[in-house]
Amino acid sequence: MAGILAGKKALIFGVANERSIAWAVARELHAHGAELAFTYAGEVLEKRVRPLAEGIGSSLVLPCDVTRDDEIESVFEEVGREWGGLDILVHAIAFANKEDLAQPYVETGRAGFHTALDISAYSLVVLTRHAARLMKGRDGAVVTLTYMGSEKVVPNYNVMGVAKAALEASVRYLAYDLGADGIRVNAISAGPVKTLAAAGIAGFRDMLRLAGERAPLKRNVDAAEIGRTAVYLVSELGSGVTGETLHVDAGYNVMGM
Ligand code: NAP
Repeated sequence: MAGILAGKKALIFGVANERSIAWAVARELHAHGAELAFTYAGEVLEKRVRPLAEGIGSSLVLPCDVTRDDEIESVFEEVGREWGGLDILVHAIAFANKEDLAQPYVETGRAGFHTALDISAYSLVVLTRHAARLMKGRDGAVVTLTYMGSEKVVPNYNVMGVAKAALEASVRYLAYDLGADGIRVNAISAGPVKTLAAAGIAGFRDMLRLAGERAPLKRNVDAAEIGRTAVYLVSELGSGVTGETLHVDAGYNVMGM
């Protein structure tokens, strides 16, 4: 299947380090032939992201905090200048204040709620709007990362579960808006993976252990499996799929007891 993404240009948001799900997605897209560009959210991260990107032949590495409209505009201007268009957008970004991922959900304050929804859900809308302009006539594809805490109560996931519900609904509305332009928008609902963001959730170790014990496959997923699902969704293999949230969680979500 090597080369199924040959000639495709992909812009990746959300690499913090080599454990990031976005990095696993990037490696798989690259392995299947895509050319990649990356964004990073601060100077500290640039030091981690740039060497990773260069290691797989990418020199287009741009700053972008998704709460900053000016930075978002600059990224897409630069990508348009360098590539003249875009085929794939990977959105693997989420953030909530640490206390909102530990105290009861009922205690969530207005500012924390806005922050989580802005960074974790609205960012998909604004990035997709910009990406769509560069995807005209190119069968574009957008993929984002979500988690089952949007559908069911997962203790401590709290405001992030609410943000992920908004993210998944956004996937459906964006799919509808952009379908006529041949642009597909999908989400991968991943099982727990040990990353920087995951470390911020109180009790994450227990989540990992329980999911591994109870999932039909009797294990957790690894990030490469999520990456390969992304290849399916953004390539011609997934050409009939849009507005979908696809679980890649060793089957955990199908269990009732
Ligand atoms: P990660 O490596 O920590 O990635 C999260 C990324 O979001 C980081 O690159 C982070 O940058 C970025 N981000 C946060 N605020 C940002 C902002 N204002 N502007 C731009 N970027 C910002 O963790 P991950 O687990 O791979 O997370 C990737 C996605 O997968 C998230 O949407 C997450 O919810 C989802 N997911 C994760 C799991 C899991 O178990 N790990 C399961 C299902 C879904 P900074 O480090 O600079 O904040």
